[in-house]
Amino acid sequence: MKEIKITDLMTKEVKGVERQTPLREIVESMTRQRLSCKLVTDQGAPVGIITERDMVKLLLRTAEDPSMLDHPAEELMSSPIVTLHSDETLYDAMVVSRAEKLRHLPIVDKNGSLLGLVTQADIAKAHFHVIEIQAEMIEKAIHERTIDLREANAELQAMSLEDALMGIGNRRAMEVDLEHTHASSLRNGRQYCVALADVDYFKKYNDHYGHSAGDEVLRVVAQTFEECMRKTDRIYRYGGEEVLLLLSDTDAKGALIFMQRAIKALAERGIPHCKSPYGFLTSSAGVAAAVVDGKCRATWHEVVEEADKALYRAKEANRNTAQIAA
Ligand code: GH3
Ligand code: MG
Ligand code: MG
Repeated sequence: MKEIKITDLMTKEVKGVERQTPLREIVESMTRQRLSCKLVTDQGAPVGIITERDMVKLLLRTAEDPSMLDHPAEELMSSPIVTLHSDETLYDAMVVSRAEKLRHLPIVDKNGSLLGLVTQADIAKAHFHVIEIQAEMIEKAIHERTIDLREANAELQAMSLEDALMGIGNRRAMEVDLEHTHASSLRNGRQYCVALADVDYFKKYNDHYGHSAGDEVLRVVAQTFEECMRKTDRIYRYGGEEVLLLLSDTDAKGALIFMQRAIKALAERGIPHCKSPYGFLTSSAGVAAAVVDGKCRATWHEVVEEADKALYRAKEANRNTAQIAA
């Protein structure tokens, strides 16, 4: 507002009248040109103003004395008048017009000569325009901030170790933990097992019950398995509808028993799945141990691969079951 110059919003074609101009001429020109005021000037400098209100007063007096119309402008004008300099701003105009309760503000140059006129309506219009621009700027800033926050959020999510949907460890967490566990297994022969579990006929579940019902089921699957686990076991989303369970200090047989129990627990939840031959939601799993015949496999990738093969056999063996690596 302080940057908007008053000369940008003033009406420039303002012609003043002389002090001696008869009021009749002024009444005629104000009516013809639909003016709300007429400025009276003396050698180019505004010295008085005649407004619509003055006109009403004049016309009332003319009813008694018609010769009033022949009287000069200076008899009716309000004088002196408040003016603004051309280098002042919209803000100055607002302050002055409000403080002095003025509807018309003549603008003068540095010599005091009339340059133009600013009305209260001009000020209100310009002010409204400024508010609109400010609102647009705020909206733009909010929009940019929202984008920034979204990007930051995506970054944080990428850095996080939890899968947002299932509420369990994500693949990155899984890799870190497997790396660590396998290194310790290589060093001191400590046994651990990997179980890969996969929801049966899940594509059909999504197709029939909808994707968001599918999402909800994935959370239940993770929660059910978690409830069966020991405190030292870990569960991660391996991808899609597959989870990986890291079972420490457990041999293959123990891992198989655990996984069978977890699979049974999910089946017993009795989540309806009318497109599965079982009629309810089931899962299958493959289990593999890191140490076989006293020898640790070279990498954890190998352990996962073996578990995956066992999972494949569980699928072939009619699903809803767990198989152990050969
Ligand atoms: P199978 O018994 O052989 O495992 O059959 P399946 O249909 O479960 O297996 P498939 O690999 O063909 O399909 C997995 C489906 O899991 C397909 C995919 O749309 C769905 N899926 C993967 N991730 C998500 C997810 O985050 N949410 C939901 N709702 N579905 C998912
Ligand atoms: Mg799958
Ligand atoms: Mg599946």
